[in-house]
Amino acid sequence: MQLVKHDLVIIGGGPAGLAAAISARKNGLKDILLIERDKILGGILNQCIHDGFGLHTFNQALTGPEYAQRFIDEFYELGIEVMLETIVLSLDKNRNISVSSKNGFIKIQAGAVILSMGCRERTAGAISLPGTRPSGVYTAGAAQNFVNLQNIMIGSHVVILGSGDIGLIMARRMALEGAKVEAVFELLPTPSGLARNVQQCLNDYDIPLFLSTSVFELHGNERLTGVSVAKVDKDFQMIEDTKRVVPCDTLLLSVGLIPENELSLGAGVNLETTTNGASVDDNYMTNVPGIFSCGNVLHVHDLVDHVSGEAALVGQCAVQYLHQKSLLKEPSITIETKQDVRYVLPQKVSGKKDFTLSLRVTRPMHNGVVMIKDNDRKVARKKMVRLHPAEMIRVKVKAKNIENAKKLEVSVQC
Ligand SMILES: Cc1cc2nc3c(=O)[nH]c(=O)nc-3n(C[C@H](O)[C@H](O)[C@H](O)COP(=O)(O)OP(=O)(O)OC[C@H]3O[C@@H](n4cnc5c(N)ncnc54)[C@H](O)[C@@H]3O)c2cc1C
Repeated sequence: MQLVKHDLVIIGGGPAGLAAAISARKNGLKDILLIERDKILGGILNQCIHDGFGLHTFNQALTGPEYAQRFIDEFYELGIEVMLETIVLSLDKNRNISVSSKNGFIKIQAGAVILSMGCRERTAGAISLPGTRPSGVYTAGAAQNFVNLQNIMIGSHVVILGSGDIGLIMARRMALEGAKVEAVFELLPTPSGLARNVQQCLNDYDIPLFLSTSVFELHGNERLTGVSVAKVDKDFQMIEDTKRVVPCDTLLLSVGLIPENELSLGAGVNLETTTNGASVDDNYMTNVPGIFSCGNVLHVHDLVDHVSGEAALVGQCAVQYLHQKSLLKEPSITIETKQDVRYVLPQKVSGKKDFTLSLRVTRPMHNGVVMIKDNDRKVARKKMVRLHPAEMIRVKVKAKNIENAKKLEVSVQC
């Protein structure tokens, strides 16, 4: 068995891993290894052939592959080492990594590790969908892979459960490919995806969206023949007399993403219940020294531009850790969520440098102010016309405003 050493190992070659690797090299680190289980770099962006990527970073609406290619080109120009078709099997708290590669089983000892493994989708089993188990039930991302990458049409009469961005984008894709998209059903009273996707993917194609409505039964033996849907009350219980059957041969599920944190757990990384990602400080370092996290494995992002920006910062912090470990101050200020805030990230900070706080709200609101306070003292605020759980909010906080703070509280005031 081979045993090798690297200063920095990055797990996952999607936009987060690529940006972290590029930033680490630009910050002077020579010995970097990026490990990716797929045949190509780019992660989930390879199957996102719609446009809408890079509006913030490049001021252009690129497709997913176009956006990824810009980073892939730079990655190879910088001569960073990569292992493709290689899966990381385990990671421990001392940063010992086991991988299965084309050349067999390899053990790697890393000075620092960046976790950038992305997310996987919630399946029919994960949401305990009742009914028969016919073919024709796919997660929206799996359907996207079949249609966009493998040129396989998966059905002709489609129902979509969940109004997350992937579901909305696949509603439009299936319509463009000639399928009849019967409807999108969403359990919550508001859409889960970005407002621009509701407009561009549903309204522009006359695809109906039914809110506070869910699928309660699958029908069909070999192939799906229909689904029973019904409205739900405020406790998400089915309203029996609204139940009806919608005939269809395909059901796409867009019911949430789960950060791929099995490796993180094996290394003893603490996870947050709100994000299902690691708990991190303002260096994006987890509770395990030398293990950092970024991208969708840390918290689900709606915009890839934010993934790239966050990961570039993480690459820089990892280099700083390797060069001068004492530079990373023990974080002493905790950040807590208050009224109408679902999560904040990072969850603790050193107070020694400026940082950007990412957060999501619990419900749609208008004309609100995101307020960050140290006791009663205001340290940062952001006024917003529209606040929506689907849209991540970022607020800059200056170190000089949190000197001597012990705890910051984040709330929304309307
Ligand atoms: C369908 C869809 C539509 C989207 N639309 C938009 C849009 O219009 N605009 C926008 O800005 N953003 C959009 N996004 C969001 C954006 O694509 C994601 O936020 C971004 O891709 C996350 O990057 P990542 O690197 O964290 O994860 P990923 O892109 O998922 O990359 C993770 C990588 O890690 C690898 N990996 C995982 N585990 C291992 C392991 N054990 N060993 C080795 N490799 C491993 C995976 O193979 C993968 O390549 C969309 C996302 C999806 C899914």
